[in-house]
Amino acid sequence: MQKPARCAPKPNHVYALATLRVSEKCVFADNIWVVLHCVAGQRPRHGTINWNISLPDGSSLTDEKNSSLLTEFKALVWTMIHDPREGKAITGGTLNSLELAIASVCSWMILEEVPSIADIDSAMSWEYAQYFLDHHEQVDPKKQKTRPRTVSNASASVRLTVLVYMYRQRQALRLLGIEPAQEAPYDGRSVDDVVRNELDLHRKGKLDPIPDDIAIPVLGSAIRFLGAPADDVMALQDLCMRAFEEAPGESEGTWCRREKYRAAIAELTKFQFARIDEEVEPWRGPLEPTPRSLRDGRMGMLEGNQLLRRLIITIQSAAIVCIQGSTGMRAHEMCGLDAGSEESQPLPGCIESEISSDGLMEIFYCHSVEAKQSKVRTRWVIGARSVGSNYLPPPVRAFQVLWQLYMRWRRLGGTTKLLVTFRAAKGVPRRSTSVGRMTVVGLTELQKDFLREHCDLSGASEASRVEFLEQHRLRGHRWRTTFALFLFRVNSGLLPAISRHFQHLSMVMTERGYIGNDVDLIDTLDSTRVMESARFMLEFAEGRSAAAGSVAKHVERFREELREQKVEATQAAAEVFIIENDLRIFFLPYGHCFLHLKPEASRCHELGGSSHWSWRGPNVAFRSPSVCLGCQLFIANGRHLPVWQERESTYAKALKGSQRDPALRVIKARHAQATNMVAILGKKAAK
Ligand code: SF4
Repeated sequence: MQKPARCAPKPNHVYALATLRVSEKCVFADNIWVVLHCVAGQRPRHGTINWNISLPDGSSLTDEKNSSLLTEFKALVWTMIHDPREGKAITGGTLNSLELAIASVCSWMILEEVPSIADIDSAMSWEYAQYFLDHHEQVDPKKQKTRPRTVSNASASVRLTVLVYMYRQRQALRLLGIEPAQEAPYDGRSVDDVVRNELDLHRKGKLDPIPDDIAIPVLGSAIRFLGAPADDVMALQDLCMRAFEEAPGESEGTWCRREKYRAAIAELTKFQFARIDEEVEPWRGPLEPTPRSLRDGRMGMLEGNQLLRRLIITIQSAAIVCIQGSTGMRAHEMCGLDAGSEESQPLPGCIESEISSDGLMEIFYCHSVEAKQSKVRTRWVIGARSVGSNYLPPPVRAFQVLWQLYMRWRRLGGTTKLLVTFRAAKGVPRRSTSVGRMTVVGLTELQKDFLREHCDLSGASEASRVEFLEQHRLRGHRWRTTFALFLFRVNSGLLPAISRHFQHLSMVMTERGYIGNDVDLIDTLDSTRVMESARFMLEFAEGRSAAAGSVAKHVERFREELREQKVEATQAAAEVFIIENDLRIFFLPYGHCFLHLKPEASRCHELGGSSHWSWRGPNVAFRSPSVCLGCQLFIANGRHLPVWQERESTYAKALKGSQRDPALRVIKARHAQATNMVAILGKKAAK
């Protein structure tokens, strides 16, 4: 390969760049860039780039001889933060992975003696892709303690994308006096296409659901721990802490602390654990020193207050497994949950309940913040019970346990975060600095330990045991697909509801930058929506379904198109029509919403003051049967007749109530609407 001439930025540019502000905490010339980020559950280092990157020739990127390369990459990152082109600005939380990607590209440039990003053309970008495949898994002797690196869809996507940025940011780079890459890398193909089809790296396995022979015992064990064992551990913790506080002597001084410590240990050793309903023996024997083997093979001894610490952490882990496994909630959203400080309340502040519109069910919701890009507040349905019942659905009980078990530690740490950690290696916290915040990694580590130490996997297949006990493949995110597929298997008709559940909670999922993480789930849900939408079109085209609603004329178009093109009305043809015309339906219990047809005509968005052509989903805050009835994007057919009949009879009953009820006018109007729909749908169904 012919080596192009080195083209360093001009000195006056370098001087001007040096003083550019990157964030409140650093300027361009600094060797460590820190950009504040507020993605809950991510470690602070995610908002950092350390430019002191080791290169294969033994030098560092910050060495004088690499100064022009350093300036180019700093300029690239600066423009991605402050002058993004063709997309949103990157956030602090992505800097750490960008550092890894830049280290890979710089290493290749040094080895291949490529002096500047301006010299990287499309042909060279393929050489870089090959370099990545050949070198990524090589062990850096200086970093033997870090996790072994694997060539995967995710690692390739992150590292190959840097070359795309070099071209995409070309105009912004020129404004800084940096000559950018002259042509798009990889022959203009998307990184996703290259990674999947050229490097043959598919996302398979990344978000595979947890197999049943693992998921069932793990969830079963978690729910078991949230019953009597959780009550026991909370009681034991209170006894020990009270004994510690009330034992004679000040908290200061070695001798006094030892007395207090002994008082707490006395409570530990005499504590009798309860029996779980329908079990003969207490759920565990008296506490005594016990050996503990760690995942990395080390052995330790649990004794003294270490026993209490492990019990508390075990119950916390069980609650986390239960919540993720029964709601599909994301790990970073869990880390960011705010419990509030109303300690007299039975549940944390992020949980609220509402009575369903028919007055029969009490539905529990959890408020969280989707922190990736848009900081959207989201609301997860986490369980329901009959009105008046004392039953707590398992995820709600898990929230209750987390709230109460860690109340004293939250108070000590001066935080209102629902999930906190014990930062010191041993014992329970005594100072505020010993209470730490939960991270996404920490959340997964807890679950791996819980699986290994408290779940009976003797009935699992050998393959599952290897995957989860030896390779430690349990990741919090895998509960999302597990949860979705579990519901799907219980009743495939629930898919529209599952889709709504995830859509409601993941506004950003459809944005390109995030789709990578959830692509398998989106594919599953999207293809089901396409399938269901096509089935509706087909029934309509074949006259098997008569529909009522303003949108019916658009649906007619499908029938005409098939006739004109003399295409046989098959499921496949209908799916093609749905995809080509972007006519995916939103399935509501009382009808279908064709929002994609004309988003700006959406009645729910109009009422919410949010009308715009770019909406990809309804405005759930303003959507209701009566609103949809007045919307030109709504359609209902015979399948929805029972819902409207039930609505009619509910309002008919309500009409018999007090005639002074101020809501009577609304009830009358809704009853009339429902009666009308029942008449129309009933007549159409009879034809
Ligand atoms: S009002 Fe109903 S039919 Fe219209 S866009 Fe909103 S959800 Fe869809």
